[in-house]
Amino acid sequence: MTTRAAAEKRAHRLREEIRRHEHLYYVLGRPEISDREYDALERELRDIEARFPDLVTPDSPTQRVGETPSEEFPSFAHRVRMLSLDNTYSEDELREFEERVFRIVGEQEIVYTAELKVDGLSMALHYEKGRLARAVTRGDGVRGDEVTANARAIRAIPLVLREGSGFPADFEARGEVYLPRSRFETINRDRAEAGEEPFANPRNAAAGTMKNLDPRIVARRGLEILLYSIANAGEVGVTSQWEALERMRAWGLRTNPASRRCRGLDEVLDFCHEWQGRRGELEYDIDGVVVKVDDFALQEELGSTSKFPRWAIAFKYPAEQATTRVLDIEVQVGRTGKLTPVAILEPVTVAGSTVSRATLHNEEEVARKDVRKGDTVLIEKGGDVIPKVVRVVEDARPEGTRRWVPPERCPICREPTVRPEGEVDRRCPNASCPAQLEERLRHFARRSAMDIEGLGDSLVGQLVEKGLVHDFADLYRLRLEDVVGLERMAEKSARNLLEQLETSRSRELRRLLFGLGIRHVGERVALLLAQRFRSLDALAAAPVEEMEAVHEIGPTVARSVHDWFRDPANQRLVEQLQKAGLRTEEDAAAPGSRTLEGKQFVLTGTLESMTRGEAQAAIEERGGRVTSSVSKKTSYVVVGRDPGSKADKARELGLDVVDEAAFRALLGGE
Ligand code: AMP
Ligand code: ZN
Repeated sequence: MTTRAAAEKRAHRLREEIRRHEHLYYVLGRPEISDREYDALERELRDIEARFPDLVTPDSPTQRVGETPSEEFPSFAHRVRMLSLDNTYSEDELREFEERVFRIVGEQEIVYTAELKVDGLSMALHYEKGRLARAVTRGDGVRGDEVTANARAIRAIPLVLREGSGFPADFEARGEVYLPRSRFETINRDRAEAGEEPFANPRNAAAGTMKNLDPRIVARRGLEILLYSIANAGEVGVTSQWEALERMRAWGLRTNPASRRCRGLDEVLDFCHEWQGRRGELEYDIDGVVVKVDDFALQEELGSTSKFPRWAIAFKYPAEQATTRVLDIEVQVGRTGKLTPVAILEPVTVAGSTVSRATLHNEEEVARKDVRKGDTVLIEKGGDVIPKVVRVVEDARPEGTRRWVPPERCPICREPTVRPEGEVDRRCPNASCPAQLEERLRHFARRSAMDIEGLGDSLVGQLVEKGLVHDFADLYRLRLEDVVGLERMAEKSARNLLEQLETSRSRELRRLLFGLGIRHVGERVALLLAQRFRSLDALAAAPVEEMEAVHEIGPTVARSVHDWFRDPANQRLVEQLQKAGLRTEEDAAAPGSRTLEGKQFVLTGTLESMTRGEAQAAIEERGGRVTSSVSKKTSYVVVGRDPGSKADKARELGLDVVDEAAFRALLGGE
């Protein structure tokens, strides 16, 4: 594709294709191509747009995420107020709701829509001439924050509606932005790895994400949306809620397939009961069902109070609770020295699983709830990951209990604990506290870090306890006689361990960086830093500004890394690691070694040892290029597991097809 005219035509085609696949994937949930093929389309479009920047259109699928974080969110006055919903936990009250409806519109068989009440945050999307013009949060219902840049970063929100679907020229759709549970778990795992506070539940995570000023972060989080109403439905000629849902879906907006049109309250209640039992099947949390009078004419007749519409009500599911006894209050010491009080409970079943521990978060929380050893407590398992103590059942408190006092000394190393002013957490300040050390060593050895399989939990415990290991560098000084004779350590496994340690010396810099357990440095940040600075020394010497200049790295992370390298104890550690012969430089593809200069690669299928992005980066670092489709110009087609049709095409053309091992060899320059 050499001429500009041809490029323009192709870019147009690609955009249409990508939009069609986005719709199939995000809205309809039935993709026709693999993620990989989709990525390839997008990459091809990016390539064209990079060559002809004037061909970029603002609604191009490549333009979802802008480069510049916003300064703040401007406030926007809703054209139609965003009301809350009246709610109830009981069937009787639901019947009373219907009685109130009858009083206004007369007794008749009412058709309702029943929709799941997704537990996220509400969002208004303004579409003008089929293009996303604005996204506004609910705010106080009258004014919200304009978060358009963040909304554009959510793939499930179309930038352009379906052509020819008859969408109105100007309308406002409302819906719920949420974070799927699986994404939530991944995010929390990453945060924990980076020594950051995890989010309590998916809703907090979604809300925190939308408050982020950097759309690039929003894009990575994987938010979803389900639209449930048209704010100006009257203007656009829709006559019922059910029709609104159907129309929005036709226009290309994602609506909840689990909605039902019900004749009368009994059908509504069936729906409520059915989903109460099936909640667990959903990829998101719900806190109940929203019941709406379907007919807009009736809705209008019913009107609203100052707080909520009279034509809708939320039937809420109770959070699952149970009472049990506190056997003890333990204190856990985390990798960063943070002390967390935990209630050890008499095992009890809540929401289908056995609970024997509940977090008490921090000492203030214990004091506020006055939880004591011996107390009977009400615990709850809502959308939160860890069950929590709701309150103490005071009447059941036995004689002789005492208020809980935070430990003055670390339960593990006996060092006096500290609680810095203005912080809620108490810490063990001892950097070589065995509890912290154990956690840090485990982290160091984990698969995504230095990958030392033989260094399991029990072994780490013994090494620390016996005083054989005080820091990461000590691991590399272990001798056979140190290890043999430890519990469950025969000579063979001891040798294995030493061999694995030996191999781990040459792990990539990014793994080492991640393994060091610097606060805020998760896998992704470690990769970015390694790519940019290429050696531990260079990173140690880098000023904060230089780190912040790295795409995706913010001030908190930069400051944390900077401070870590300024700590004399850490400087000694780095020195020791270098002395121990660990690889502290990214040497595989030093900038000069452009071993793949001029080579064109096509990737298909899943590689075992690296992600698609890593493979591409590795090729590009060496001067090669990755394209999405196979042609005569292709130098190599790399075939992983479950390859697509490209592999066949490559064979037809008689191209060089390489498997993962051969690919790695190519990268290694062999
Ligand atoms: P509440 O905040 O409890 O007053 O409930 C009102 C909120 O429920 C709305 O602002 C929406 O964010 C949310 N919601 C979730 N699903 C729906 C739905 N299908 N229809 C209306 N509101 C919903
Ligand atoms: Zn300690």
